Amino acid sequence: MNILTFDVEEWFHLLDFDATRTEAEWGKYEVRIHENVDRILDILERTNTKGTFFIIGWIAKTYPDVVRKIAEKYQIGCHTMNHQLVWQQSREEFRKDVETGVKMLEDITGKKVESFRAPGFSIRESEAWAFEILSDLGIKYDSSIFPAHHAHGGMPSFPKAAPTILSYQGHEMKEFPVCFKTIAGKHIVFSGGGYFRLFPYPLIKKWHTDITDYTDNYLLAYIHPRDLDGGQPMLEGLPLARKFKSYVGCKGAASKLERWLNDFSFTDISRATKKIDWTQAQRFEL
Ligand SMILES: [Zn+2]
Repeated sequence: MNILTFDVEEWFHLLDFDATRTEAEWGKYEVRIHENVDRILDILERTNTKGTFFIIGWIAKTYPDVVRKIAEKYQIGCHTMNHQLVWQQSREEFRKDVETGVKMLEDITGKKVESFRAPGFSIRESEAWAFEILSDLGIKYDSSIFPAHHAHGGMPSFPKAAPTILSYQGHEMKEFPVCFKTIAGKHIVFSGGGYFRLFPYPLIKKWHTDITDYTDNYLLAYIHPRDLDGGQPMLEGLPLARKFKSYVGCKGAASKLERWLNDFSFTDISRATKKIDWTQAQRFEL
């Protein structure tokens, strides 16, 4: 099963970087979200593919037309209101950030928001409390877990990358974790972000074809509008390694995504969950 997801944010919504940390900075940068979302919608249209869009509440508040356009045909999920790392927030801050983002999206679309992804996959074991809050706020499907060590999060104790019933103090959540391939001890997340942009398509296709070697035939792709934007400006002051990771391969990524969606069949979370026999799914207690 291949699941396609997007984190809808601007090209400058990089985490853990002072010049782009809060709403106070975001107004200073060029607006590229319209053309970048249109590029994705065109690719989905041409390849007849569905995907789930995790949208930042700030994008919804600032450009409600973008959200309306996506919601006409695609599933909407929440990516918090203000795009902060979960482990940098208190429980109350996190609750408010998710609650405001969900409400913003529901008010614009008139549809219930039931899916969530944390910025930077930043729910670690020490933030398992987040699942109680998400469940309280009506979230049924989460896609915030990176089942290994990761720069902004990571849960190395998570079992295999597959749809999983998470339970935390009596609250249950259906989890769609990120998957990766381990090469020379490194976790290569070829299905999203920098690694997806870096590697040539034939390699991505091969790893995807080999997927039964390392997951239960499960792949989760995650793409940001900025990943496909070859014309975006470069943020000043990024350390060299982050500059490389943030901008490598943006120019060729849109055509790479289109080839991928032509070669493999992807679906969104709302359709995927109906096909999964959750009574047989892996369970993980936090
Ligand atoms: Zn994000």
